[in-house]
Amino acid sequence: MNRKVTKIGVLTSGGDAPGMNAAIRAVVRTGIYKGLEVYGIMRGYSGMIDGDIFKMESQSVANIIQRGGTVLKTARCKEFFTSEGRKIAYDNLKKHGINGLVIIGGDGSFRGANIFSQEHDIPCIGLPGTIDKDIAGTDFTIGFDTAVNTAVEAIDKVRDTADAHDRLFIIEVMGRDSGYIALHSGIATGAENILIPERKTDIENVIKTLLEKHGRKKLVNIIVVAEGEEFGATELSKIITERIPDQEVRVCILGHIQRGGSPTCFDRLIASRMGYAAVECLLENRFNVFVGIINNKTHYTPLDLAVKKKQKINEEWMKIVRILSS
Ligand code: ADP
Repeated sequence: MNRKVTKIGVLTSGGDAPGMNAAIRAVVRTGIYKGLEVYGIMRGYSGMIDGDIFKMESQSVANIIQRGGTVLKTARCKEFFTSEGRKIAYDNLKKHGINGLVIIGGDGSFRGANIFSQEHDIPCIGLPGTIDKDIAGTDFTIGFDTAVNTAVEAIDKVRDTADAHDRLFIIEVMGRDSGYIALHSGIATGAENILIPERKTDIENVIKTLLEKHGRKKLVNIIVVAEGEEFGATELSKIITERIPDQEVRVCILGHIQRGGSPTCFDRLIASRMGYAAVECLLENRFNVFVGIINNKTHYTPLDLAVKKKQKINEEWMKIVRILSS
């Protein structure tokens, strides 16, 4: 496929992530700098289907690099799962003459983009915007660093009160299918244990190590559990209370605070680099890929491959958790 892209659309889709605004800004400003017309599409694929599409100027993205959320809003869109829905979306893009798309979202959004680009002659470039960091083909995703730092800040605060009362807190962080937020924030806050969906939880072992530490009067304050872990924070707290009755246990679910807030420097930086690279891809006819960063270099993965893989949890990290909390 060799063709000239002149008008591009940008949208944010699926779960929101801090840093999406920085990515939008980079796409819009790079596009305009390179002589393209840039269109904002509201609420992900829903805006494509509803025709909620508007021309963006350089000023449209002024003063947003530091803001969480997404100025283009995001959504999950059922109609886009159907070929009829995608055809309506295509017709709406054509009305504006849009002949290239940048999709900022997670693996679901990439799946949609992949199917769309196979059915219609509009090349798509994905930018990984998800707090979960669960996409292979990039070392980092936009929003992960901010979410982890928010979790760390919150866990540090919980630890202060836990310590004052000699309590054990089971802290649930986000990650329905992915334990990266739990793993990173748990190590960074000195958690006793980190339970994640990618590994089967050995509950007897959790109890055994707690009892052993209890026996030698080592204070244990924090266990970090990812949302999608098999037991879940509440069930885990019940089991520990039953098995170690003199240990006071509390549950703290961090929830949506992890999605919001001003993006960290790191997230702003990768969002800016990736946004710039997305426009370059469209201009260089490097179509239907998603942009990642591996070993600090821009990396491109075909959209159809990007959606199939998941990153593996490094087992050495789990060993570090055990050793550092002993
Ligand atoms: P995320 O991008 O954060 O993983 P979702 O999995 O909810 O979020 O996907 C976002 C949107 O992408 C969906 O609501 C849908 O519009 C579109 N999408 C996801 N998977 C597909 C698919 N297989 N076919 C068409 N569209 C899809």
